[in-house]
Amino acid sequence: MPRDKKGSPGGPMSGKRFRIALVLASLIVAAGMFAFGQDSPEATSYEIRISLDTEMDTMVGIQEVHVVNRSSEAVDEIPFALIANWGAEPNPYLHPALTDAQYAAGFDPTWTRISQVRDADGNPLSFRLAPTPPFLLTFSLEAGLLIVELDAPLAPGAEILIRIDFETKFARASAGDNCVAKDTYTWRFGWNPVLVDSGALAGRFELPAANYHVELTIPQGYHAFGGADMQQELGTEAGIKTIELSNQRPTRSVPLIIGPELSSVSTEWNGVTIEAVYLPGGEAYAREALSYAEEILDYHTEQFGPFAGTRLIIAENPTSGFFGMAADGFVLVGASIVRLKDMPALGIYDRVSEYLLAHEIAHLWWGIGIGTDFNAENWISEGFAEYLSISYFEDRYGGFNPNLLSHLQPGLVEDAMLESMGYMNLRQHMSELPYLALLQLGFDEPIIQPMADSQYLNGITIRTYSKGYLALRALEAIIGKDTLHTILVEALDEWNGKLLSVEDFKLLAERISQSDLADFFADWIYGTAQLDVGISGFDTHAMESGYQTLLTLSGIDPIFPVDIQATLTDGSTAEMRFVPTCCSADTVAFETVLPISAIAIDPDEMLPDANRYNNHWPRKIMVDHPFRSADAPEIGKPLDAYVIDISPTGISGSFRNDHAWSLMLLPHIDPNMDWESFNSLDDRLLLDLVGVFAANIGRDLGISFTGMITALDLQTGMGELDAMLTARILGFTHPQTGQAGLYWYPSWQHTLTVGALGALPRPTPYLSLSVQYDSQPTILMRNRMQLVLGIPGFGTAPFASITWQGERRLRLFHLMYVDVGASIAESLSQDLPNEFLFSLSQLHSFDYLPMGHHQAYAAIEAVFPPLVRDSGYAILNLTRLDSITPSVFIQGGRTQANCLSVCEPGIRVEAGARLAFIFPGFLGTSIRLDIGYAVPLIGVDGSARAFFELGGGF
Ligand SMILES: [Zn+2]
Repeated sequence: MPRDKKGSPGGPMSGKRFRIALVLASLIVAAGMFAFGQDSPEATSYEIRISLDTEMDTMVGIQEVHVVNRSSEAVDEIPFALIANWGAEPNPYLHPALTDAQYAAGFDPTWTRISQVRDADGNPLSFRLAPTPPFLLTFSLEAGLLIVELDAPLAPGAEILIRIDFETKFARASAGDNCVAKDTYTWRFGWNPVLVDSGALAGRFELPAANYHVELTIPQGYHAFGGADMQQELGTEAGIKTIELSNQRPTRSVPLIIGPELSSVSTEWNGVTIEAVYLPGGEAYAREALSYAEEILDYHTEQFGPFAGTRLIIAENPTSGFFGMAADGFVLVGASIVRLKDMPALGIYDRVSEYLLAHEIAHLWWGIGIGTDFNAENWISEGFAEYLSISYFEDRYGGFNPNLLSHLQPGLVEDAMLESMGYMNLRQHMSELPYLALLQLGFDEPIIQPMADSQYLNGITIRTYSKGYLALRALEAIIGKDTLHTILVEALDEWNGKLLSVEDFKLLAERISQSDLADFFADWIYGTAQLDVGISGFDTHAMESGYQTLLTLSGIDPIFPVDIQATLTDGSTAEMRFVPTCCSADTVAFETVLPISAIAIDPDEMLPDANRYNNHWPRKIMVDHPFRSADAPEIGKPLDAYVIDISPTGISGSFRNDHAWSLMLLPHIDPNMDWESFNSLDDRLLLDLVGVFAANIGRDLGISFTGMITALDLQTGMGELDAMLTARILGFTHPQTGQAGLYWYPSWQHTLTVGALGALPRPTPYLSLSVQYDSQPTILMRNRMQLVLGIPGFGTAPFASITWQGERRLRLFHLMYVDVGASIAESLSQDLPNEFLFSLSQLHSFDYLPMGHHQAYAAIEAVFPPLVRDSGYAILNLTRLDSITPSVFIQGGRTQANCLSVCEPGIRVEAGARLAFIFPGFLGTSIRLDIGYAVPLIGVDGSARAFFELGGGF
């Protein structure tokens, strides 16, 4: 299903990577169709009369379906899919707290109910409801199919008219479509019963096209926009408005957006009416979208063939998010793109929203125009839409260098954005980097396979979109850009309005390119091949005239030609293409007039290379330092180079998201310094030395080191050391998610740390082992056990401590929770070094928290439903307030020391309240600011006070 969600790529070790809502795209959960073979009953037309009931949030009506039996056998049953019933039941596998945010007031179903089925003469036909096979979702399968039982068998070639009285309900929800939010109703596919192949049980997921004619009635004050070539108002009577929607060509649905507050602006492009529909405040976006749409249509039609239809609706979806969704003549964009258009900087999302529109409009060629099986072969839809839109984007803004934020004007906020994210390149950081992370996590799988066969459901989006795009880019490298375009245009010519299989696409590609692509498809589309082509050796020697170079390549694959670019000593370049055969040597010889200073392979980054670092000779090491000229190009985050950054205070280095390190040396500033008696001549210079290293090793292992020496005196060697080397080991379980395929959840998180803490030259070495079990998807609970051991033999007595910590969220009702947490910490030895004593640092209202050997802590917090949700209140044009969630808490505990003389009881308890403000950050991230007030109830040294906490974001 063409349904996309775009976000920041995020590092492979970022904490949210296992969130069930993936960063880059949502899974197929919306609507769709089953198999529709060539040899089965087929719907040629749907004549629908339907009314929107805004009291009940339903559409009630009658559809007349013209059915032709295209098979060679008589049939006595006609199956229809009732797609709304896929949303009739809540997901039983996820804790409801995880899905609360999607609903206005708790789970609200979508459904289609059938009241009667009749033939052309009005005689009732019997029917029954049957379950959907679990090939996409594994719940809400009941009544997914309507089977109409004919009185007499329908002979081959014969036709019949079936009348179905039905009612379909929208969900009060704020996720995607099929819902009503802010009084606005949206639904793309299958709000009506849709005829499917009796082979629906095969598990294909296709939308057959047919002629649709719809008469829609809505309340007079509402406005409706349908994805249809013709839309006209037929009249108004008794407060009810009737709208006619029709097409002159088969379409897959009549997608709708209906609401009282919708407005639109429109333009004409080569006989096509483009209409941009917006909610209050969205006009600037709408006008910008019209202008982008014209340029996108120019490009797409020129490159990929004519636009089918005469009308295109681009509508602001009422629900927030950075996503787009397409249907016939219809594109929905998430409200966040409209509302945050110029926040926090003018035009910040221009490029993102242009690319998103290019992707969604591309679906009118691939995915909607050319249909496919959205289950196993969604690549035909998403991979190609990515290929079309990224090609468009690179044609306009170049394929190299930063291109997502490079258009920002000079400014304060702009500079801050550029500093943190200015490096972003659409292809490198939004497609290639996620693909590299997929390989690193071991989640690679064939691009083409049914969802239920997936062993790594976590990677399905990156495989379909990013790997799918990279595979098409590689195909372009093999057969050439012009040939690939000829293939795409031919495919449209033959399959527009029909269903294309990958196998048919392969045959077409082979016929037009006149090449054997069997290996490419077997390895890269149906297989799990990976590629790492590189330069392993290089030798140049002078000849009588000019120079001969012998280049040794590694990792070559006979499927892919390798472009070689040599840079000569005068700066000029020479190019050649190496086409390996099955048995060719991996040494390439070529001659040049001047000596060669550098060689690069695949300089246009056409191949899906798992490692581009070895594509250069000499290897590319880019160094940023304070003496680079001001107009030197930004280094950013290249995928083919090692980056070293030298600044006056330190040095850092990194390679992609694989590893990063930094070393910083700063003058030490004593936070308790007495400035009045400060004498710079008396005081020796003290330094702070900070070193950090982190590496992603694979799916289940990450290694990090942090080391800090504060107040280091170089003459005496005195200072405070805090250093730890940590291995994080993940253990996966496979909870049910409600979607077909195997999902990997890191339930077990173990860390093993070797550290040293304390004053130099005798810090305390220790070992820490922690085990955490997290059962988030089903019961929202987390338990953690930590054992800390002093390593004997370094001057400290052996010591040990153990800590247990547990947290659980209980749901009382929709958006109302009680969070409980507790911890117990005990020293297992008589003494603990000071650095390892426990304290109640969670408390806000106590000045002097005691340190001790034994500690118990408990907290209970009642989280109330948000005071506002999706508020949209602008904060200085920087962002918009999303929600304010109030909560009250009581927390406290006791810390007890092994005291020899005086010992205070150490019990401290406080009560408090807080408001959590959530703001959207860049591209779907969020920022949380807590403002609270805590009052001491039990304990000494306490005083009531306000506190602030900043968190969130990823
Ligand atoms: Zn898409």
